[in-house]
Amino acid sequence: MKHSSFNLNEQNLKTESRIVVALERISEAFRVLLWNESKENSLSPIQIQILIFIHFHSLEKCKVGYLADEFNMTKATISDSIRVLLAKELVTKKTDPIDTRSFSLLLTDKGKKIAKKASFFASSIEQPIEKLTEEQKTIMLNGLLKLIYDLNKSGIITIQRMCFTCSFYNAENGIHYCDLLKTKLAESEIRVDCPEYEMIT
Ligand code: SF4
Repeated sequence: MKHSSFNLNEQNLKTESRIVVALERISEAFRVLLWNESKENSLSPIQIQILIFIHFHSLEKCKVGYLADEFNMTKATISDSIRVLLAKELVTKKTDPIDTRSFSLLLTDKGKKIAKKASFFASSIEQPIEKLTEEQKTIMLNGLLKLIYDLNKSGIITIQRMCFTCSFYNAENGIHYCDLLKTKLAESEIRVDCPEYEMIT
């Protein structure tokens, strides 16, 4: 029978299983923190996530289809959330001049205020990470990036904008290099959400 990370007898014999369970605990912490932030603003967690995403990403990424991929949800679910955000005057639509059926979302002043404050919802997760040494942080970052890379390859994580899958990324003899920024990237500088990211085609 297949091994389960949640079987305590087996879990305590396998480091991988304990990492999986630890990640699950952390995802619970994200869920609770996001939920608290949502309640404060009488919004749902996904509506808060959309506002934060719009606040920090370029216009061409703030479209229904892209948001659906970003959050692994259907376009219909994202559209429902957007309807609420429009009704509450937290976002406005900017129609694409070439394709008038397509639009991007912009934050209103009211939406910006909420997004700015809500973007700190995970601060209490960042604080304990700050206490780690630089070496520990780099090891943790690299482990997580490799995990995201594999989950993306297997189709579980749809969208990511990290160096390892970027057309500008090069690696030789363990040295990471960005052809766009024309610079070496230290292990600790590998990006997880890069504004200049371009997917390998
Ligand atoms: S453009 Fe960004 S994601 Fe791509 S290699 Fe350079 S730093 Fe990494």
